Amino acid sequence: MELRREVLQAEIVYPGSDHPGPTSVEVRWDPLTGHTARLVTSPAGALFPPADLGALATLAEESRPTCPFCPERIEQVTPRFPAAVWPEGRIRRGRALLFPNLLTYGHYASVSVYGAELHALRLGEFTPELVGDNLAVQVAFVGAVARHDPAARWASVNANHLVPSGGSLFHPHLQGTAGPFPTTFQGMLAEVPVERFADYLATERRLGARHLGSTGRAEWLAAFAPAGPAELRALVPGAPTPAELDDELVAELGRGISTALGLYAELGFESFNLALYGLPPGHPLLLRMLCRQNPRPFYRSDVMYLERLHWEAAVDLTPEQVAEQAGDRFRG
Ligand SMILES: [Zn+2]
Repeated sequence: MELRREVLQAEIVYPGSDHPGPTSVEVRWDPLTGHTARLVTSPAGALFPPADLGALATLAEESRPTCPFCPERIEQVTPRFPAAVWPEGRIRRGRALLFPNLLTYGHYASVSVYGAELHALRLGEFTPELVGDNLAVQVAFVGAVARHDPAARWASVNANHLVPSGGSLFHPHLQGTAGPFPTTFQGMLAEVPVERFADYLATERRLGARHLGSTGRAEWLAAFAPAGPAELRALVPGAPTPAELDDELVAELGRGISTALGLYAELGFESFNLALYGLPPGHPLLLRMLCRQNPRPFYRSDVMYLERLHWEAAVDLTPEQVAEQAGDRFRG
């Protein structure tokens, strides 16, 4: 498989100069879907300034008194599943607690907190156990839905973390959905021949520059044509659907996501999105996650005309830089 990339060069006359100087932008094509990404050169931190931890702490304290997911309110203000879906109404594992989403984005929709008492978590504080337990309740949710309504076969587990990612509540949580139709991207992935996933993985393993290693059954990559800053992917060839994931793989993915979030924190990010796509049997399990602009007053949204209307991200952090920063942390 050829990983296509083109560097486009032109000239402009820079301020303070009388002679043309070079400009360049690199376009890359995603090996699975063909989506393009552009890698731009910007002064360090110009596109994505590092997190302002003071502003984050203020946001945490301002949102705490009315937070519906904190221990004083969570049992009273969150809904429960009917007994036909989950007899106890809410799903628990360790400190994680899952309940239906009041804002129904899917035929069946869930929200799960890492812990009612965990109102504020820096990305470096998502331990493997916290992530693994939260993933486990989401897997239990999509499994329960699949048994209750076999037509709801398109499932996904997702995250919005902090306002820039679309998260309306500060309290860290995951969201799950299941229904009769794929999302646009799920549909595109389902059309990708299974062999192309294998080729992609084999190519990245051979090239090495973006292959971060294996945590056991999951192989981790820095995305070649990222949809946002520091996009990471985990592929699990031969994995079952999310509804049928075994405890061992859930714990492994929990470790991997925890490791990825630690890397994001080191890179200066605190907001992220995540999607674990349920695909038809035979397809690998695919997890994607990427960073979002850090929250700050009047922040620049990282989703501009390119991302929203052209489906093409502009990033100034190369996948190879991300992989170098990741080092060996995903190996073994
Ligand atoms: Zn809270």
